[in-house]
Amino acid sequence: MCGIIGAIANRNVASILIAGLQRLEYRGYDSAGLAVIESGKIARLRRVGKVVELNKALTATPLPGHIGIAHTRWATHGAPTEANAHPHVSSDEIVVVHNGIIENYLELREQLQAQGYAFTSETDTEVVAHLIHSKLKGQNLAQAVKQAVLLLKGAYGLGVISRHEPEHIIAVRKGSPLIIGLGIEENFIASDHLALLPVTQEFIFLEEGDFVDLHADSINITDAQGNAVERESKTSQVSHTQTEKGEYRHYMLKEIYEQPSVLSNVLEGRISDDKVLLQSFGENAETLLQQVKRIQIVACGTSYHAGMVARYWLERYAELPCQVEIASEFRYRTNVVEDDTLFITLSQSGETADTLEALRKAKDSGYLTSLSICNVAESSLVRESDLCLITRAGPEVGV
Ligand code: GLU
Repeated sequence: MCGIIGAIANRNVASILIAGLQRLEYRGYDSAGLAVIESGKIARLRRVGKVVELNKALTATPLPGHIGIAHTRWATHGAPTEANAHPHVSSDEIVVVHNGIIENYLELREQLQAQGYAFTSETDTEVVAHLIHSKLKGQNLAQAVKQAVLLLKGAYGLGVISRHEPEHIIAVRKGSPLIIGLGIEENFIASDHLALLPVTQEFIFLEEGDFVDLHADSINITDAQGNAVERESKTSQVSHTQTEKGEYRHYMLKEIYEQPSVLSNVLEGRISDDKVLLQSFGENAETLLQQVKRIQIVACGTSYHAGMVARYWLERYAELPCQVEIASEFRYRTNVVEDDTLFITLSQSGETADTLEALRKAKDSGYLTSLSICNVAESSLVRESDLCLITRAGPEVGV
Protein backbone atom coordinates (compact mmCIF):
# COMPACT_ATOMS: atom_id res chain seq x y z
CA MET A 1 0.00 0.00 0.00
CA CYS A 2 1.50 3.24 -0.98
CA GLY A 3 0.58 6.90 -1.28
CA ILE A 4 -2.41 9.01 -2.26
CA ILE A 5 -2.77 12.76 -2.41
CA GLY A 6 -5.57 14.88 -3.85
CA ALA A 7 -6.31 18.60 -3.92
CA ILE A 8 -9.13 20.97 -4.82
CA ALA A 9 -8.28 24.67 -4.70
CA ASN A 10 -8.52 28.05 -6.39
CA ARG A 11 -4.97 27.67 -7.67
CA ASN A 12 -3.10 25.14 -9.76
CA VAL A 13 -2.59 21.97 -7.75
CA ALA A 14 0.04 19.98 -9.69
CA SER A 15 2.98 21.31 -7.65
CA ILE A 16 1.12 20.59 -4.38
CA LEU A 17 0.53 17.04 -5.59
CA ILE A 18 4.19 16.54 -6.53
CA ALA A 19 5.39 17.94 -3.20
CA GLY A 20 2.97 15.60 -1.42
CA LEU A 21 4.19 12.59 -3.39
CA GLN A 22 7.77 13.49 -2.51
CA ARG A 23 6.84 13.51 1.15
CA LEU A 24 5.31 10.05 0.74
CA GLU A 25 8.39 8.64 -1.01
CA TYR A 26 9.77 7.25 2.23
CA ARG A 27 7.13 4.54 2.12
CA GLY A 28 8.75 2.98 -0.94
CA TYR A 29 7.04 2.71 -4.35
CA ASP A 30 7.73 1.66 -7.90
CA SER A 31 5.91 4.22 -10.03
CA ALA A 32 4.07 7.50 -9.69
CA GLY A 33 1.40 9.47 -11.48
CA LEU A 34 -1.01 12.35 -11.31
CA ALA A 35 -4.08 13.64 -13.14
CA VAL A 36 -5.73 17.05 -13.15
CA ILE A 37 -8.88 18.38 -14.77
CA GLU A 38 -8.69 21.62 -16.73
CA SER A 39 -11.44 23.08 -18.95
CA GLY A 40 -13.38 19.83 -18.82
CA LYS A 41 -10.41 17.73 -19.94
CA ILE A 42 -8.38 15.14 -18.07
CA ALA A 43 -4.59 15.52 -18.24
CA ARG A 44 -2.56 12.65 -16.85
CA LEU A 45 1.15 11.94 -16.41
CA ARG A 46 2.62 8.67 -15.17
CA ARG A 47 6.18 7.45 -14.82
CA VAL A 48 7.94 4.29 -13.67
CA GLY A 49 10.55 5.00 -11.00
CA LYS A 50 11.05 8.08 -8.88
CA VAL A 51 8.77 11.07 -8.37
CA VAL A 52 11.63 13.20 -9.72
CA GLU A 53 10.97 11.61 -13.14
CA LEU A 54 7.34 12.59 -12.91
CA ASN A 55 8.36 16.09 -11.87
CA LYS A 56 10.69 16.36 -14.89
CA ALA A 57 7.83 15.37 -17.18
CA LEU A 58 5.62 17.94 -15.47
CA THR A 59 8.22 20.69 -15.91
CA ALA A 60 8.40 19.84 -19.62
CA THR A 61 4.57 19.83 -19.90
CA PRO A 62 3.05 21.93 -17.10
CA LEU A 63 -0.48 20.81 -16.25
CA PRO A 64 -2.70 23.62 -15.02
CA GLY A 65 -5.83 22.62 -13.12
CA HIS A 66 -7.53 23.40 -9.81
CA ILE A 67 -8.43 19.80 -9.03
CA GLY A 68 -6.23 16.73 -9.16
CA ILE A 69 -5.25 13.40 -7.65
CA ALA A 70 -1.87 11.69 -7.48
CA HIS A 71 -0.38 8.38 -6.41
CA THR A 72 2.77 6.46 -5.66
CA ARG A 73 2.22 2.80 -6.40
CA TRP A 74 3.49 -0.33 -4.75
CA ALA A 75 2.39 -2.90 -7.28
CA THR A 76 0.24 -5.73 -6.00
CA HIS A 77 -1.58 -6.63 -9.24
CA GLY A 78 0.45 -6.27 -12.43
CA ALA A 79 4.08 -5.29 -12.98
CA PRO A 80 5.46 -1.83 -12.18
CA THR A 81 4.88 -0.33 -15.64
CA GLU A 82 3.54 2.99 -16.86
CA ALA A 83 0.31 1.34 -18.03
CA ASN A 84 -0.27 -0.06 -14.54
CA ALA A 85 0.63 3.18 -12.73
CA HIS A 86 -2.23 5.19 -11.23
CA PRO A 87 -4.34 7.25 -11.78
CA HIS A 88 -6.56 4.93 -13.82
CA VAL A 89 -9.14 6.40 -16.16
CA SER A 90 -12.44 5.00 -17.38
CA SER A 91 -14.10 6.17 -20.60
CA ASP A 92 -12.17 9.46 -20.59
CA GLU A 93 -14.39 10.54 -17.71
CA ILE A 94 -13.64 8.91 -14.34
CA VAL A 95 -10.19 9.11 -12.73
CA VAL A 96 -9.21 6.93 -9.77
CA VAL A 97 -6.27 6.49 -7.38
CA HIS A 98 -6.32 3.55 -5.01
CA ASN A 99 -4.30 2.13 -2.13
CA GLY A 100 -4.98 -1.44 -1.18
CA ILE A 101 -6.23 -4.59 -2.84
CA ILE A 102 -9.59 -5.41 -4.43
CA GLU A 103 -9.96 -9.10 -3.68
CA ASN A 104 -12.84 -9.82 -6.07
CA TYR A 105 -11.31 -7.88 -8.97
CA LEU A 106 -11.16 -10.84 -11.39
CA GLU A 107 -14.87 -11.53 -11.13
CA LEU A 108 -15.68 -7.81 -11.53
CA ARG A 109 -13.25 -7.50 -14.43
CA GLU A 110 -15.04 -10.29 -16.31
CA GLN A 111 -18.44 -8.69 -15.70
CA LEU A 112 -17.20 -5.30 -16.89
CA GLN A 113 -15.54 -6.79 -19.96
CA ALA A 114 -18.86 -8.44 -20.81
CA GLN A 115 -20.43 -4.96 -20.61
CA GLY A 116 -17.89 -3.73 -23.19
CA TYR A 117 -15.22 -2.08 -21.00
CA ALA A 118 -11.70 -2.42 -22.45
CA PHE A 119 -8.88 -2.73 -19.91
CA THR A 120 -5.53 -1.04 -20.45
CA SER A 121 -3.79 -2.34 -17.30
CA GLU A 122 -3.44 -5.50 -15.25
CA THR A 123 -4.37 -3.78 -12.01
CA ASP A 124 -7.24 -4.41 -9.65
CA THR A 125 -7.68 -0.62 -9.50
CA GLU A 126 -8.80 -0.20 -13.10
CA VAL A 127 -11.81 -2.36 -12.20
CA VAL A 128 -12.84 0.33 -9.72
CA ALA A 129 -12.67 3.07 -12.38
CA HIS A 130 -14.86 1.15 -14.85
CA LEU A 131 -17.23 -0.02 -12.13
CA ILE A 132 -17.87 3.58 -11.07
CA HIS A 133 -18.38 4.58 -14.69
CA SER A 134 -20.85 1.72 -15.18
CA LYS A 135 -22.95 3.08 -12.28
CA LEU A 136 -23.17 6.59 -13.67
CA LYS A 137 -26.25 6.12 -15.83
CA GLY A 138 -28.63 8.81 -14.61
CA GLN A 139 -26.62 9.27 -11.42
CA ASN A 140 -24.03 11.74 -10.24
CA LEU A 141 -20.46 10.85 -9.26
CA ALA A 142 -21.16 10.57 -5.52
CA GLN A 143 -24.08 8.20 -6.10
CA ALA A 144 -22.10 6.11 -8.58
CA VAL A 145 -19.12 5.75 -6.21
CA LYS A 146 -21.45 4.82 -3.35
CA GLN A 147 -23.01 2.04 -5.42
CA ALA A 148 -19.71 0.83 -6.80
CA VAL A 149 -18.00 0.44 -3.43
CA LEU A 150 -20.84 -1.78 -2.21
CA LEU A 151 -19.59 -4.35 -4.74
CA LEU A 152 -15.93 -4.17 -3.73
CA LYS A 153 -14.36 -6.76 -1.45
CA GLY A 154 -10.96 -5.99 0.03
CA ALA A 155 -9.12 -2.93 1.26
CA TYR A 156 -9.21 0.48 -0.30
CA GLY A 157 -8.45 4.12 0.15
CA LEU A 158 -9.87 5.78 -2.95
CA GLY A 159 -9.70 9.23 -4.52
CA VAL A 160 -12.08 9.76 -7.45
CA ILE A 161 -12.71 12.71 -9.79
CA SER A 162 -14.83 13.17 -12.90
CA ARG A 163 -14.21 15.56 -15.75
CA HIS A 164 -17.95 16.36 -15.80
CA GLU A 165 -17.96 17.35 -12.10
CA PRO A 166 -14.68 19.24 -11.60
CA GLU A 167 -15.93 20.88 -8.42
CA HIS A 168 -15.33 17.95 -6.09
CA ILE A 169 -13.26 14.93 -5.10
CA ILE A 170 -14.91 11.80 -3.75
CA ALA A 171 -12.87 9.81 -1.25
CA VAL A 172 -13.63 6.53 0.51
CA ARG A 173 -11.76 4.76 3.24
CA LYS A 174 -11.99 1.05 4.02
CA GLY A 175 -8.97 -0.85 5.28
CA SER A 176 -6.44 1.72 4.02
CA PRO A 177 -5.67 4.98 5.82
CA LEU A 178 -7.02 8.26 4.46
CA ILE A 179 -7.17 11.74 5.94
CA ILE A 180 -8.54 15.13 4.96
CA GLY A 181 -6.40 18.27 5.10
CA LEU A 182 -8.30 21.51 5.68
CA GLY A 183 -7.18 24.71 4.00
CA ILE A 184 -8.71 28.12 3.44
CA GLU A 185 -10.91 27.82 0.36
CA GLU A 186 -9.00 24.66 -0.48
CA ASN A 187 -9.10 21.10 0.77
CA PHE A 188 -7.00 17.99 0.39
CA ILE A 189 -6.96 14.24 0.85
CA ALA A 190 -3.92 12.08 1.58
CA SER A 191 -3.03 8.63 2.82
CA ASP A 192 -0.70 10.17 5.42
CA HIS A 193 -0.94 13.63 6.98
CA LEU A 194 2.83 14.14 6.57
CA ALA A 195 2.19 14.59 2.83
CA LEU A 196 0.15 17.73 3.48
CA LEU A 197 2.21 19.56 6.10
CA PRO A 198 3.48 22.20 3.65
CA VAL A 199 -0.13 23.25 2.92
CA THR A 200 -1.98 22.67 6.20
CA GLN A 201 -1.70 21.52 9.80
CA GLU A 202 -5.44 20.98 10.25
CA PHE A 203 -6.65 17.43 9.66
CA ILE A 204 -9.64 15.15 9.87
CA PHE A 205 -8.68 11.53 10.47
CA LEU A 206 -11.34 9.48 8.70
CA GLU A 207 -12.87 6.37 10.21
CA GLU A 208 -13.44 2.97 8.62
CA GLY A 209 -16.14 3.11 5.99
CA ASP A 210 -16.24 6.92 5.76
CA PHE A 211 -17.36 8.42 2.46
CA VAL A 212 -16.29 11.98 1.70
CA ASP A 213 -17.57 14.57 -0.75
CA LEU A 214 -14.84 17.21 -0.77
CA HIS A 215 -15.27 20.68 -2.28
CA ALA A 216 -12.85 23.61 -2.03
CA ASP A 217 -15.10 25.25 0.58
CA SER A 218 -17.10 22.39 2.09
CA ILE A 219 -16.80 18.81 3.27
CA ASN A 220 -19.57 16.25 3.64
CA ILE A 221 -18.83 12.98 5.36
CA THR A 222 -21.11 9.98 5.71
CA ASP A 223 -20.21 7.01 7.88
CA ALA A 224 -20.28 3.30 7.05
CA GLN A 225 -24.05 3.21 7.77
CA GLY A 226 -24.68 6.10 5.39
CA ASN A 227 -25.44 8.68 8.11
CA ALA A 228 -24.13 12.22 7.73
CA VAL A 229 -21.47 12.77 10.41
CA GLU A 230 -19.30 15.61 11.69
CA ARG A 231 -15.75 14.50 12.32
CA GLU A 232 -13.67 16.64 14.60
CA SER A 233 -10.57 18.24 13.09
CA LYS A 234 -7.19 18.11 14.81
CA THR A 235 -4.24 20.46 14.60
CA SER A 236 -0.98 18.64 14.02
CA GLN A 237 1.82 19.66 16.34
CA VAL A 238 4.34 18.58 13.74
CA SER A 239 5.80 21.34 11.62
CA HIS A 240 6.98 20.40 8.19
CA THR A 241 10.60 21.27 9.03
CA GLN A 242 10.47 18.62 11.78
CA THR A 243 10.05 16.04 9.07
CA GLU A 244 13.20 17.10 7.23
CA LYS A 245 16.47 15.18 7.36
CA GLY A 246 18.53 18.08 8.71
CA GLU A 247 22.21 17.25 8.98
CA TYR A 248 21.68 13.50 8.57
CA ARG A 249 22.28 11.52 5.40
CA HIS A 250 18.98 9.73 5.69
CA TYR A 251 15.98 9.40 7.96
CA MET A 252 17.04 6.06 9.38
CA LEU A 253 20.20 7.66 10.77
CA LYS A 254 18.32 10.69 12.09
CA GLU A 255 15.85 8.49 13.92
CA ILE A 256 18.58 6.29 15.42
CA TYR A 257 20.20 9.41 16.87
CA GLU A 258 16.83 10.53 18.23
CA GLN A 259 16.34 7.33 20.24
CA PRO A 260 17.65 8.58 23.61
CA SER A 261 15.38 11.62 23.62
CA VAL A 262 12.45 9.53 22.38
CA LEU A 263 12.94 7.11 25.26
CA SER A 264 12.83 9.91 27.81
CA ASN A 265 9.70 11.32 26.10
CA VAL A 266 8.04 7.93 26.38
CA LEU A 267 8.73 7.65 30.09
CA GLU A 268 7.99 11.24 31.02
CA GLY A 269 5.02 11.54 33.36
CA ARG A 270 4.40 7.83 33.22
CA ILE A 271 6.53 6.61 36.11
CA SER A 272 6.54 7.66 39.69
CA ASP A 273 8.51 6.18 42.61
CA ASP A 274 9.94 3.57 40.26
CA LYS A 275 6.46 2.36 39.40
CA VAL A 276 4.61 2.63 36.09
CA LEU A 277 1.51 4.82 36.42
CA LEU A 278 -1.09 2.43 35.10
CA GLN A 279 -3.59 5.17 34.38
CA SER A 280 -1.33 6.40 31.58
CA PHE A 281 -2.63 3.45 29.53
CA GLY A 282 -6.20 4.74 29.61
CA GLU A 283 -9.40 4.52 31.57
CA ASN A 284 -9.86 1.32 33.64
CA ALA A 285 -6.26 0.36 32.88
CA GLU A 286 -5.49 -0.12 36.52
CA THR A 287 -8.31 -2.60 37.13
CA LEU A 288 -7.82 -4.40 33.82
CA LEU A 289 -4.05 -4.76 33.95
CA GLN A 290 -4.13 -6.16 37.47
CA GLN A 291 -6.20 -9.10 36.20
CA VAL A 292 -3.72 -10.07 33.48
CA LYS A 293 -2.37 -13.63 33.78
CA ARG A 294 -0.73 -13.98 30.35
CA ILE A 295 0.12 -11.87 27.34
CA GLN A 296 -0.19 -12.27 23.58
CA ILE A 297 1.84 -9.79 21.50
CA VAL A 298 1.05 -9.40 17.80
CA ALA A 299 2.95 -7.18 15.34
CA CYS A 300 4.78 -7.03 12.00
CA GLY A 301 8.37 -6.32 10.95
CA THR A 302 10.48 -4.30 13.36
CA SER A 303 7.58 -4.05 15.78
CA TYR A 304 7.48 -7.85 15.88
CA HIS A 305 11.20 -7.85 16.78
CA ALA A 306 10.52 -5.31 19.53
CA GLY A 307 7.80 -7.66 20.77
CA MET A 308 10.32 -10.51 20.97
CA VAL A 309 12.50 -8.41 23.27
CA ALA A 310 9.45 -7.41 25.32
CA ARG A 311 8.61 -11.07 25.82
CA TYR A 312 11.92 -11.70 27.60
CA TRP A 313 11.31 -8.73 29.87
CA LEU A 314 7.70 -9.61 30.61
CA GLU A 315 8.60 -13.16 31.54
CA ARG A 316 11.64 -12.13 33.55
CA TYR A 317 10.35 -9.08 35.42
CA ALA A 318 6.57 -9.43 35.42
CA GLU A 319 6.72 -13.25 35.49
CA LEU A 320 3.84 -13.46 33.07
CA PRO A 321 3.83 -16.04 30.27
CA CYS A 322 4.04 -14.26 26.95
CA GLN A 323 3.65 -15.29 23.29
CA VAL A 324 4.69 -13.21 20.29
CA GLU A 325 3.32 -13.76 16.81
CA ILE A 326 3.50 -12.13 13.39
CA ALA A 327 0.14 -10.52 12.64
CA SER A 328 -0.14 -11.99 9.14
CA GLU A 329 -0.09 -15.50 10.65
CA PHE A 330 -2.23 -14.73 13.67
CA ARG A 331 -5.06 -13.20 11.67
CA TYR A 332 -5.57 -16.23 9.42
CA ARG A 333 -5.45 -19.08 11.92
CA THR A 334 -7.60 -20.46 14.72
CA ASN A 335 -6.41 -19.28 18.12
CA VAL A 336 -7.14 -20.82 21.49
CA VAL A 337 -7.41 -18.04 24.05
CA GLU A 338 -6.79 -18.72 27.72
CA ASP A 339 -8.59 -16.69 30.38
CA ASP A 340 -7.23 -13.29 31.42
CA THR A 341 -4.93 -12.87 28.45
CA LEU A 342 -3.90 -9.35 27.53
CA PHE A 343 -3.68 -8.75 23.78
CA ILE A 344 -0.93 -6.29 22.82
CA THR A 345 -0.37 -4.86 19.33
CA LEU A 346 2.65 -2.82 18.28
CA SER A 347 2.77 -0.58 15.22
CA GLN A 348 4.53 2.73 14.57
CA SER A 349 1.80 4.09 12.29
CA GLY A 350 -1.14 2.25 13.81
CA GLU A 351 -2.32 1.47 10.28
CA THR A 352 -0.40 -1.76 9.61
CA ALA A 353 -3.12 -3.73 7.82
CA ASP A 354 -2.34 -7.20 9.21
CA THR A 355 -1.92 -5.92 12.77
CA LEU A 356 -5.24 -4.07 12.57
CA GLU A 357 -7.02 -7.16 11.26
CA ALA A 358 -5.42 -9.23 14.04
CA LEU A 359 -6.79 -6.78 16.61
CA ARG A 360 -10.26 -6.93 15.08
CA LYS A 361 -10.16 -10.70 15.22
CA ALA A 362 -8.87 -10.67 18.81
CA LYS A 363 -11.78 -8.50 19.90
CA ASP A 364 -14.15 -11.35 19.06
CA SER A 365 -11.96 -14.04 20.60
CA GLY A 366 -12.32 -13.59 24.36
CA TYR A 367 -9.17 -11.69 25.32
CA LEU A 368 -9.31 -9.80 28.61
CA THR A 369 -8.52 -6.49 26.94
CA SER A 370 -6.44 -4.98 24.14
CA LEU A 371 -3.52 -2.59 24.42
CA SER A 372 -1.81 -0.90 21.49
CA ILE A 373 1.69 0.56 21.58
CA CYS A 374 1.79 3.09 18.82
CA ASN A 375 3.24 6.43 17.73
CA VAL A 376 0.08 7.93 16.18
CA ALA A 377 -2.70 8.84 18.60
CA GLU A 378 -5.28 9.28 15.83
CA SER A 379 -4.55 5.94 14.16
CA SER A 380 -7.07 3.15 13.67
CA LEU A 381 -5.13 0.82 15.96
CA VAL A 382 -5.28 3.24 18.89
CA ARG A 383 -8.92 4.10 18.27
CA GLU A 384 -9.93 0.46 18.16
CA SER A 385 -7.91 -0.74 21.19
CA ASP A 386 -9.22 -0.56 24.76
CA LEU A 387 -5.91 0.75 26.11
CA CYS A 388 -2.93 2.43 24.51
CA LEU A 389 0.59 3.63 25.08
CA ILE A 390 1.58 6.43 22.69
CA THR A 391 5.32 6.36 22.06
CA ARG A 392 5.76 10.13 21.39
CA ALA A 393 8.60 9.47 18.94
CA GLY A 394 7.67 12.39 16.70
CA PRO A 395 7.12 11.91 12.97
CA GLU A 396 8.82 8.71 11.84
CA VAL A 397 9.88 8.70 8.25
CA GLY A 398 12.54 5.95 8.01
CA VAL A 399 10.95 2.68 6.86
N1 GLU B 1 -3.50 -2.84 -5.87
C1 GLU B 1 -3.18 -1.64 -6.56
C2 GLU B 1 -2.18 -1.88 -7.69
O1 GLU B 1 -1.49 -2.86 -7.74
C3 GLU B 1 -2.74 -0.52 -5.64
C4 GLU B 1 -1.41 -0.77 -4.99
C5 GLU B 1 -1.01 0.34 -3.99
O2 GLU B 1 -1.63 0.44 -2.91
O3 GLU B 1 -0.06 1.10 -4.30
O4 GLU B 1 -2.10 -1.10 -8.57
